[in-house]
Amino acid sequence: MSTNDKLDVIIVGAGLAGLACAYETARAGLQVAVLEKGEAAGSKSLTGGRLYLRPVSELCGELLKDAPFERTVISESITITDDTSSMSFRLDDNATPDKPNSVTVLLSPLNQYLAEKAAEKGAMLLPQQKADNLIFDKEKMVGVKIGEEELRARTVVAADGVLSFLAEEAGLRPQRDALSYGLGIKETIELNSTCIEERFNLPPGKGASRLFFGTITQDLQGGGFIYTNTNSLAIGLVVNLGALSNWKSETESWQLLEAFKARPDIAPLLAGGKTIEYGAHLVPEGGFNTLPRPGLPGLLLVGDAAGFVFNTGYILRGMDLALASGMLAAQSIIKSHQENFDPSACLNNYEQALKESFIYKQMEKYKKAPDLLTLERLYKHYPQNVIQLTRELFQVDSAGQNASIWHTCKKFVFKVLGLKGLRDLWRFMRMDS
Ligand SMILES: Cc1cc2nc3c(=O)[nH]c(=O)nc-3n(C[C@H](O)[C@H](O)[C@H](O)COP(=O)(O)OP(=O)(O)OC[C@H]3O[C@@H](n4cnc5c(N)ncnc54)[C@H](O)[C@@H]3O)c2cc1C
Repeated sequence: MSTNDKLDVIIVGAGLAGLACAYETARAGLQVAVLEKGEAAGSKSLTGGRLYLRPVSELCGELLKDAPFERTVISESITITDDTSSMSFRLDDNATPDKPNSVTVLLSPLNQYLAEKAAEKGAMLLPQQKADNLIFDKEKMVGVKIGEEELRARTVVAADGVLSFLAEEAGLRPQRDALSYGLGIKETIELNSTCIEERFNLPPGKGASRLFFGTITQDLQGGGFIYTNTNSLAIGLVVNLGALSNWKSETESWQLLEAFKARPDIAPLLAGGKTIEYGAHLVPEGGFNTLPRPGLPGLLLVGDAAGFVFNTGYILRGMDLALASGMLAAQSIIKSHQENFDPSACLNNYEQALKESFIYKQMEKYKKAPDLLTLERLYKHYPQNVIQLTRELFQVDSAGQNASIWHTCKKFVFKVLGLKGLRDLWRFMRMDS
């Protein structure tokens, strides 16, 4: 492509956020180029694999109509673990809602599908093109440099992921410490669909989400997951980077995943499977209080680049926020082009749209979650003691007795919880209010 071509929008990054934005802006007839430093769309992206559909059904319904989803999740569980044992709370939801709550996805085919949809609408996808520098005209951003080459447009969209170079260079990223990031490590294990359905007790085509916390992260803040795809399992851990960097242990982070896979309650689920993908990636975990302004005149931040991810401990959402923010940025750009294009008005429109959307509302609702999840007791003291109390309740000793419900409850309230625990419980109950 010649640098003299007149562009309306340059999108840096071909992940979910960038591709949603590319599709929508190109569909409106704008001249759009998407720069991707990887070999293909999404080749550098990594996710766990569960996409919540309802929040994006209106904004992205048309775009996602034929998307390559894996399985509709109907089975949920949360499992607490100690060194040897685990205890689960599980819901097999056979009610049939009008719209599925969530699906599992493999990011590569999904990004590829979105790239094709955007290209069909006329967006130019430029793989192996890395934006190296920003071009400013006074306070306004007017383009990017790829090596020595300049590419200019009325709007640049930073969809370049969690370590957004554009947000950094534009001075938009607040000083975030390691506590604001999680390190995600994930493996995809190929397994045939019948085997998956038998092992996870699933009807054909339906999927499961299994979440884990406790000693699987060796007392570090974080948790594990298994999601069922059509012919593979996604298994991984997300561990807080701050906790990891202060960790005094010989164990490497990748060994945590190996130990997780080798657990007696996990290994049989994976048996006979073949690892077909392995990766590590950061996750923005700072939440609402660490969000930067979502741009400056001429530049809009979307997806992970804007910090749009939240983790409540039992729900991790980034993909639906990436898709929705890409769409909202596109709509603000389109609106500005229909009016007398003004980059400041475009940014204000986008910011307003974000405030009115589920993205800001939900992130604000869960703004206390990042703090709450730093509680060390969540990862060792509570899981170990709850498992031990439950064990005592079920075990019959040689005198023919098992622990009484009264004593178990008393021990739980006074020994396991205590004052600190009651305070933790109160904070947990008030997390989203
Ligand atoms: C282990 C893990 C588990 C997760 N689990 C879930 C989950 O189950 N559900 C959920 O909703 N979310 C989950 N998330 C979060 C979710 O995956 C992300 O929020 C989402 O994929 C972000 O999409 P994005 O388009 O903003 O960024 P990305 O997918 O990271 O895309 C950014 C793109 O920009 C490109 N790029 C970067 N710099 C440049 C440059 N200078 N020039 C050109 N291109 C550039 C990159 O190559 C990349 O393709 C998880 C994340 C991880 C790591």
